[in-house]
Amino acid sequence: MRFLITAGPTREPIDPVRYISNRSSGKMGYAIAEAALEAGHEVVLISGPVGLKRPRGAAVVPISTSDQMFDAVQEQTRNCDVLVMCAAVADYKPVAVFTKKLKKRDAKLSLELIPTRDILASLPKSRKYFVVGFAAETESIETSARKKLLKKNCDAVVANDARIAMESDENQVEIYFRDGETKKISRASKKIVAHELIKMFEKRLTKKIV
Ligand code: C5P
Repeated sequence: MRFLITAGPTREPIDPVRYISNRSSGKMGYAIAEAALEAGHEVVLISGPVGLKRPRGAAVVPISTSDQMFDAVQEQTRNCDVLVMCAAVADYKPVAVFTKKLKKRDAKLSLELIPTRDILASLPKSRKYFVVGFAAETESIETSARKKLLKKNCDAVVANDARIAMESDENQVEIYFRDGETKKISRASKKIVAHELIKMFEKRLTKKIV
């Protein structure tokens, strides 16, 4: 199978030297890429800026901004069986990017932000590939994940607690499938969680294809 996996944060520029980003390490997405490769799948990994070793055998598409990730996903979904949107895409970006470095002044500074384009929500409703979204929350995890499943038209949403998952080597997840099925993977290394997730997606896909 051909897996398209997104990982890491995006960076939304403010001026030539500053940006808005988040604490995503990319570890979960990279672990999923490694697990898919070990299971014999083809992997394209669209990666935000992270300090991780490129998984051997994956085709890596490096991106920085949410707009670049948007374009890369549009392009790469032409040829995939499963899309795993593990990346922590910024939800907001500055309305305008300053072309010159902002000077420090002794006054308040306000930045106007606009929502980024939602990549998952922009995918065609009728498609041939299986779409997995991620939900990292700090409260009402199940409710938010179920909402995301419908609103973003995903086939499955992997929900995790941002307080456990962010930057850590461990994770604990619940998976909500479109048909109502729910699965749980107890706290374990991201490597183990990734292997379990790949097995689940393989099972689902075989079901879908048959
Ligand atoms: O809405 P929220 O950012 O919490 O949703 C998380 C899920 O949506 C993740 O799968 C993330 O990759 C995806 N996302 C997206 N486009 C955005 C923001 C998030 O596809 N602009």
